Amino acid sequence: MSGRRVAVLGAGIMGSALSMNLARRGFHVTVIDRESEPMSATSRWNEGKIHLGYLYGADPTLATARHVLPGGLLFEETLRELIGGDVTGHTTTDDDIYLVHRRSVVSPDEVRATFDAISELVRQHPDAGRYLVDASDARAAMLTAAELQAMAGEEIIAGFRVPERSVDTRWVADRLAAALAAEPGVDLRLGTAVVQVARDGGRARWRVRGDDGYDEEFDVVVNALWNGRLPIDVTAGLAPEPPWTHRYRLCVFIRTRAEHELASAVVAVGPFGDVKNYNGRDFYFSWYPVGLIAEGTDLELGSPDVPTGHGAEAFVDSVRAELERVLPGVGRVIDDAEESTVQGGFVFARGRGALDDPQSGLHRRDRYGVQRRDSYYSVDTGKYSTAPWLARLLAAEIAG
Ligand SMILES: Cc1cc2nc3c(=O)[nH]c(=O)nc-3n(C[C@H](O)[C@H](O)[C@H](O)COP(=O)(O)OP(=O)(O)OC[C@H]3O[C@@H](n4cnc5c(N)ncnc54)[C@H](O)[C@@H]3O)c2cc1C
Repeated sequence: MSGRRVAVLGAGIMGSALSMNLARRGFHVTVIDRESEPMSATSRWNEGKIHLGYLYGADPTLATARHVLPGGLLFEETLRELIGGDVTGHTTTDDDIYLVHRRSVVSPDEVRATFDAISELVRQHPDAGRYLVDASDARAAMLTAAELQAMAGEEIIAGFRVPERSVDTRWVADRLAAALAAEPGVDLRLGTAVVQVARDGGRARWRVRGDDGYDEEFDVVVNALWNGRLPIDVTAGLAPEPPWTHRYRLCVFIRTRAEHELASAVVAVGPFGDVKNYNGRDFYFSWYPVGLIAEGTDLELGSPDVPTGHGAEAFVDSVRAELERVLPGVGRVIDDAEESTVQGGFVFARGRGALDDPQSGLHRRDRYGVQRRDSYYSVDTGKYSTAPWLARLLAAEIAG
């Protein structure tokens, strides 16, 4: 296998992890991205929840939990193999709190039943002890009325504490980008937008073409372009399977002057928001209806304008106001910001509908993965949390 030339399209968490895995198996890898640095798109700007499945409390079939669990449990290990260090000190330190909103698409009793079943899945998994914290005794503990009252606003009607953690995605992005650049056997082709992947005549090779005249031949091509993936699949003769939805979500990343004790919490289940406290001073805040600034079902979603200046300030104010109603204390943290960044990213999902509809396909995430046409592979990353693990599996498959 050694010496075969592979093009990896996209230098997000999927493309970066895959390129390093392939190079370590002896392939000569060229990574192509339109940005000037690897890991500068969605994989840098998200909340970094390393899913055990609880976020998908509206999927009582547990198909989503089963799909996200194996890769989530091995996230730390598969990432450590790549960056050569562990994520200690760059993850949320306490259990995540799921707060059930009174307009949740599933009732507290249903959430409790699904969470108990997910905890059981986690406990029984052979890798439960290899998660960011030991999850071999995972439980969803219901908050007492007093705990709930101390923490949440009136719109919250129940709460659960689960052993999920999130990683600081900006820290991971910096480490992974540096590791990718230092990896022998990986060439970076940055600043090139891929426009086509075509069969090279009758031969079992592929030509990758860019918007700047770039044109090179490869034995294997892996498309990990996320939002930009489907149009390139079409050029390679791989027809996308509907339904799908692209969304663009904005969120707020804040560094405070002082340390704060705000809990990491998700308001569930539906179009609400969340808070991540990575280390007492670095925080993530989102409120879904305010942050959803573009949505579409075309092959690709155009990049929306990310607000700056007064627009960014107004956005932070809206997120603050919405979150403060359900999680009093958020406002105090946001007001103490030393640095505030409004950024966002794309979400691709194999479903349609709105999050306030219990029947929406967006409440499930159990169909992402790899499609293949000969030596052309297309990867729907699905989740940040499973990307390094999926990349390891795919590299093994490509190596045969
Ligand atoms: C607000 C938000 C919160 C999220 N929270 C979580 C979470 O908590 N946990 C979780 O598991 N997942 C989460 N996700 C989803 C997660 O971020 C993505 O699944 C993941 O980052 C996708 O990784 P990727 O490498 O496929 O894509 P990207 O990081 O977007 O990488 C794709 C790369 O392809 C490049 N590209 C695209 N088109 C072209 C082209 N034509 N030519 C050249 N380059 C191109 C882009 O520049 C980019 O660098 C969240 C997403 C958002 C937006």
